[in-house]
Amino acid sequence: MAIEMGGFSNVPEDDIQIGRVIEASCTPEDMDIEFSLRPKVLSEYIGQEKVKENMRIYIEAAKKRNEPLDHVLLYGPPGLGKTTLAGIIANEMGVNIKITSGPAIEKPGSLASILTTLKDGDVLFIDEIHRLSRQVEEVLYPAMEDYSLDIMIGKGPDAQSIRIDLPHFTLIGATTRAGQLTGPLRDRFGVIERLELYTHQQLCEIIMRSAVILGIPTLKDGAMELARRSRGTPRIANRLLKRTRDFAEIKGNGQINQELADLALNCLEIDEIGLDSLDRRMLTMIIKGYNGGPVGLETLASALGEESVTLEDVCEPYLMQLGFIARTPRGRTATALAYKHLGIETNSDGQQTLI
Ligand code: ADP
Repeated sequence: MAIEMGGFSNVPEDDIQIGRVIEASCTPEDMDIEFSLRPKVLSEYIGQEKVKENMRIYIEAAKKRNEPLDHVLLYGPPGLGKTTLAGIIANEMGVNIKITSGPAIEKPGSLASILTTLKDGDVLFIDEIHRLSRQVEEVLYPAMEDYSLDIMIGKGPDAQSIRIDLPHFTLIGATTRAGQLTGPLRDRFGVIERLELYTHQQLCEIIMRSAVILGIPTLKDGAMELARRSRGTPRIANRLLKRTRDFAEIKGNGQINQELADLALNCLEIDEIGLDSLDRRMLTMIIKGYNGGPVGLETLASALGEESVTLEDVCEPYLMQLGFIARTPRGRTATALAYKHLGIETNSDGQQTLI
């Protein structure tokens, strides 16, 4: 399988946040290890059992019929394995994959030139597909539906539209925001799969696998400690493993055990359930600044001096999974569990006090 990164910027500059260890987007620092850690076949892809089971059937059926796989949309928070899964699908189908992203395809012509270089069966992976422009999206419709491209030749009254046949390719789109996809685009995907946050056990397996590949001596209890504090996200788990290795080499004998993992994560200000300072600031702001909520996302973001997308894509999925915040039509509210975790109590008259 050949992997091509056509006009691909995996890391839009405005998405990079220096210094935030639990940032789930791919940072430049991750790039060097991510390639070596990516599983290449479905059997190596840990967790996401339902998605794997479905994909296994679709892949087998398409291969049996000697047809390309239907177009696939993968959605879920960053770092959960969408790009990895796209690579695996191409590998299992025995075809090439071309990787690009919504913001990298600036003009309809750029998409046309990518599409015309594909071969029958190839996979085109578009990350952050919700960020495609309208004009580019319109080129994609006939390409997905009829494997054809309508091109305008000339201008004004003499302009002519000609139709070019395209190879029968598979589009795999990935997004953190399925809700932001337009209806016509979403309807053109035959397969739509949502990736879930991983369990501690699954993350522990991912960490042990990465530790073997990277040659980092790691005990199971150390891997489990990292897993518990990786907020359900493999990218963060791998990053914490790499950071903890430094502590193990300098403060210990090079081996990662529970004690060392705990020491490293405390130094990185990641608490015992994986919350970092931004999560705690967000919860504290809802509780103390807005009396527990509801408070709108934009208001919250400006009060914290953060981007609302960071709160929505990175903090919220995990805080919601923990049951620490709830989304209501009027905004976000903090739950009793959040008060308890932060050690804040509500009096009968609504005043908050430290427990
Ligand atoms: P996304 O595209 O959703 O942001 P990626 O596919 O880039 O996430 O995954 C980030 C990293 O996490 C990859 O380098 C890979 O090593 C690891 N990873 C993700 N999912 C899995 C999995 N199911 N099993 C093992 N490793 C995984």
